[in-house]
Amino acid sequence: MATSRPLHELTLHDARDLLQTRQISSVELTRAVLERVDAVDERVKAYVTVSGEAALKQAGDADRAIGAGASGPLTGVPMMLKDNMCTRGLRTTCSSRMLEQFVPPYDAHVTERLRSAGAVLLGKGNMDEFAMGSSTENSAFFPTHNPWDLERVPGGSSGGPGAAVAAGEAVYALGSDTGGSIRQPASLCGVVGLKPTYGLVSRYGLVAFGSSLDQIGPLTKDVTDSALVLNAIAGHDPKDSTSARYAPPDYTKALASGIKGLRIGVPKEYLVEGIQEEVVEVMERALSKLEELGAQVDREVSLPHTRYALAVYYIIAPSEASANLARYDGVKYGYSAQDADDMWDAMEKTRQYGFGPEVKRRIMLGTYALSAGYYDAYYLKAQKVRTLIRRDFEKAFEKYDVLVAPTSPTVPFKLGDKMSDPVQMYLSDICTIPVNIAGIPSISVPAGFSFGLPIGMQIMGRPFGEEAIFRTAYAYEQATGWHNLRAPL
Ligand code: GLN
Repeated sequence: MATSRPLHELTLHDARDLLQTRQISSVELTRAVLERVDAVDERVKAYVTVSGEAALKQAGDADRAIGAGASGPLTGVPMMLKDNMCTRGLRTTCSSRMLEQFVPPYDAHVTERLRSAGAVLLGKGNMDEFAMGSSTENSAFFPTHNPWDLERVPGGSSGGPGAAVAAGEAVYALGSDTGGSIRQPASLCGVVGLKPTYGLVSRYGLVAFGSSLDQIGPLTKDVTDSALVLNAIAGHDPKDSTSARYAPPDYTKALASGIKGLRIGVPKEYLVEGIQEEVVEVMERALSKLEELGAQVDREVSLPHTRYALAVYYIIAPSEASANLARYDGVKYGYSAQDADDMWDAMEKTRQYGFGPEVKRRIMLGTYALSAGYYDAYYLKAQKVRTLIRRDFEKAFEKYDVLVAPTSPTVPFKLGDKMSDPVQMYLSDICTIPVNIAGIPSISVPAGFSFGLPIGMQIMGRPFGEEAIFRTAYAYEQATGWHNLRAPL
C-alpha cells in the first residue's frame, strides 16, 4: 500500500517506514504535502496559517537526525495543529479577531512534545472561534469545506484539522474536544479522531474553553497512527494541575490482539430522535461486523441520564467559558480597541469587536448561569446531574469493556444549513457530549458512506481504557478497510 500512493496520501506509519528505510526524505515528503496544500487549500480552507519555510527547515533537521540514527515514529513527518494550541513564534488565533495577531512566547506542552519527537509543523488549522461550534462556520476568518463534498461542512470545532487530514494537507493533526470537537469532524471527514481520558494529555498551552471538559487528541488516517500520536503526547505534566499521574502504556502493543469475547454494549439512548436512517443502517452493519469478529454485542444497554447531557453541557461549558474568556480585556494581550474614552469603554469595545456572535452568546449564557441567585438552580444542579451521567457509565463498564454508538446523528450538512438555529447546531454533538461530561475516552472511526458522504462510529471506554478502544477500532478497521478510501478532490 505504502509506495503505491502519492506522498501526501501516506499514513504516519507508512511515512515512517519510508523515511526510516531512506526511500524518501523528510524534505521530499514535506514538500509534497506543501504542494498539496497549494493545490487544494484554496477550495478546502483548512489552514489559518501555513508556515512552509519553517516546516522545510524542520524537515532538513529531521533528515539530518535520521541520518544520525533517530528512529522515532514522528521524526520528519509533517502535521498540523489546531489553532488553539500555542506555538512559540507562530501566530495562534483561535480563529478569533481577538487573537488574530497573537504570537505566543511559549509552546503548548503538546507542541513541545511533538517538536522534541522531531515532528514537522506545517501550520495551524481553522476552527470555530474559541472552539465553540460544530461546523467551523464560526471561524472569524472563513469556513472550512468538507473534502468529500465542498458544499458541506467538515464538522467542528476542529474542522480545519479534520479536513486537512482527509484532503492530504497534513499526515495527521491534533485537535481539541470539549463536547465532540475531535470526534464529530473526524466522523464528517471520514478520518479517525480520538478524545483521550480527561487528564491523559496536558492542557498546558491549549487556549482554555471549558477547562473541566477540554482534552487534546489526534486526528489521523487510521487507528495505528492514532496510537502512535497518543504515545507521543500522553503522560503527566506538572504544568497542568489536572494532568493525571499515570504512566501510559505503549498504545500500539494492544492493537492487534483481536476482540474475541470482548463485551460490547450499545446504549439505546444514542439512537436519538432525528437520527438519519443511513446512520442507523451503518451502525447496524458495524455491530454485525463486530459480532462476526467474535465480540459479544448487547443492544439493550441503558444510560438513562443521557437525555440530560446536552442541557448539562450547555450550563457547564458556557459557565467555564465565561470565566476563561474574562481575560480578553484588551490589556494583557490580543486585540485592544484604541478609540475609547476610558477604561470601561475600552474593554467594552475590545470585547464587542474581538468576539463573534456565538462566543458572545456563550459568555452571556455562562454569566447568567453563574450569577448570584441562579448559581444553585443552574450550575450546581448541572454538576449534580453530571455525577449521575458519570455513574451511568461506571455502571455500564462493570458489564461491558466498551460501548459503541454513532458519532454524529447526521452525515455532513450543507454550509449555512444550521447557522440560523443554534439549537440545531448544538444537537450535532448529542452523541459525543456525554463522554466529555464523564471524562472517559472515545474514538470515532470511519464506518461507511451514504452517497459519498462519510459516517463515523464511536467506541467509548473506561477511564484510561484507551487500549480497549484501540483494539476494537483496529479490529473493525482491518476487517472493513474504510480507512483506505481518500476524498476525491
Ligand atoms: N460543538 C460543541 C460546542 O460548540 C463542542 C465544541 C468542542 O468540543 N470544542 O460547544
